Amino acid sequence: MPFSSPYDAIVIGAGHNGLTAAGYLARAGLKTLVLERREIVGGCCVTEEIAPGCRASTTSYIASMLRPEVIRELRLAEFGLRMVPCDPALQVPFPDGQVVSWWANRVRAAQELRKLSERDAVRFVQVDDQLKKLARYLQPFFMEPPPEVGTGSLHGWADLVRVAGRFRKITNAETAQLVSFLTGSLGEFLDQNYESEKMKAMFLANNVYGKHGGPYQPGTAVGLLFHLLSGGEHELQGFYGHVMGGMGAITQALAASARKLGVEIRTNSPVARIDSRNCAVSGVTLEDGAEFRAQTVLSNADPKRTFLKLIEARDLPPDFVGAIQGIKMAGPCAKVNMVLSEEPRFTGTPSSHSPQERSLFTLVPSLEFAEHCYDIAKFGEIPEELWVDCVIASNADDSLAPPGKHVMTCFVQYVPYILREGNWDEKRELLGDRVVKKIAEFAPNVPNSIVARQILTPLDLERTYGLTEGNIFHGDLNLQQLFFMRPVPGWSQYRMPIRGLYLCGAGAHPGGGVTGAPGRNAAQQVLRDWKGSAWKKN
Ligand SMILES: Cc1cc2nc3c(=O)[nH]c(=O)nc-3n(C[C@H](O)[C@H](O)[C@H](O)COP(=O)(O)OP(=O)(O)OC[C@H]3O[C@@H](n4cnc5c(N)ncnc54)[C@H](O)[C@@H]3O)c2cc1C
Repeated sequence: MPFSSPYDAIVIGAGHNGLTAAGYLARAGLKTLVLERREIVGGCCVTEEIAPGCRASTTSYIASMLRPEVIRELRLAEFGLRMVPCDPALQVPFPDGQVVSWWANRVRAAQELRKLSERDAVRFVQVDDQLKKLARYLQPFFMEPPPEVGTGSLHGWADLVRVAGRFRKITNAETAQLVSFLTGSLGEFLDQNYESEKMKAMFLANNVYGKHGGPYQPGTAVGLLFHLLSGGEHELQGFYGHVMGGMGAITQALAASARKLGVEIRTNSPVARIDSRNCAVSGVTLEDGAEFRAQTVLSNADPKRTFLKLIEARDLPPDFVGAIQGIKMAGPCAKVNMVLSEEPRFTGTPSSHSPQERSLFTLVPSLEFAEHCYDIAKFGEIPEELWVDCVIASNADDSLAPPGKHVMTCFVQYVPYILREGNWDEKRELLGDRVVKKIAEFAPNVPNSIVARQILTPLDLERTYGLTEGNIFHGDLNLQQLFFMRPVPGWSQYRMPIRGLYLCGAGAHPGGGVTGAPGRNAAQQVLRDWKGSAWKKN
């Protein structure tokens, strides 16, 4: 073996990407240690008790793009992972009492959308074909390091040729469409394609989550393609799944798989410092002073936390530090989780719906109003009207709450990280009250049935889950921060400026969401280097 150190690799953080990376490293024979600051594994993919006997996916709540490779190769089903497709994938109640469902089956979805506009329902099928085709061009880039775009090296040329090869069958029209999706706005795309405002709201309900910018901001149309990247065990385009046992079942399965492969996982182990010697990583030191040695360290923490808190600036190139400081974070969302004594009754829900079909309701504003809400939040205020994505998880999985109790999680879009007046400790309950008020407009029985309420402001996401500025994706998913520019230009291939140090979390390509892709890609890069001779000799 090239090293005599006790561990071959140390992973900082047991988020789903850290656990994924650890699993792959151990599978290849590396002695791997995972160090997690919290008392539980999972990062922001966890199930936690929010009231006695009632468990909720406190942060992430729907599995859409979890990579089939990760599910298969780390044998997650054997370790208890079970997902059930969300059907409908989306459901929007409107103020006039109409509830529109976006069924997983496209023919059924189009039929339902005819209630909004015959013309739009026809267009929906055409657009779906177009989007799925374009998404397939992007799909292969998801599971590999982005190309080095410079032509100053043979590597760069080889990468460019490889990328060009992927597009050899693309037509002029498709190229134009792809560029406009990458750079255009969701709002303009919807205005051009659909006539019904409700139809546009349906699409909005499925997009721009966690991102900065209202729907008319350039670059917001790309989400339409991202959502059609495949995910789930059966690699379905546009998959949305309820995870049985909550999202934590994903990270519990990843941890069990990793342990079986020999990974050691220590919780309550916050890393204070990444140690290096002669520009090469040498291990980590915990906050309590304990030291662990390894010549390979992967950080699952976000880029700002990793490079601005765990490493001395003098150990990094100044331009790199400057670029990391410039990453846009300022998380624009929050979460409110509730336990209820009765099921929320959303007005207009057809009585024929099964409990599972009554588990998703998105309370979404119009395109114009969403733009307005973002502007309010941008200037540090909490909008009066909130965009709230409600999931009554116990309707899809009754193991989450005892009989007679219901668990509802509510994702809240467009709140500021920094408030213009006061602070989040003072404004937490106000946010909770506004969310409940919004829900009551559509499900009037909710306010009087609340048994417990957990409010996670952007500040709570930072404090509890370790997300710098509460950014749920470890850095905004805008075009300047994607692909070969993620985390920062020149450093997108998981290797970081200190030899032996890698980034393996959502701050690396391809970005946030529960996918396992950055973790798997980073582990593969480590293994490539491990096999290569360049740094073994040093
Ligand atoms: C409220 C919310 C809702 C979301 N909804 C969805 C959704 O429905 N679907 C979806 O796909 N995605 C969703 N996301 C996004 C998704 O959950 C994240 O992008 C993804 O889970 C990030 O995974 P990760 O493993 O890269 O990082 P994380 O999950 O952030 O894990 C990083 C880990 O590193 C640990 N850590 C940090 N610093 C240290 C240190 N110094 N020492 C030791 N450990 C450290 C942290 O404690 C954490 O456990 C949501 C996120 C949030 C917060």
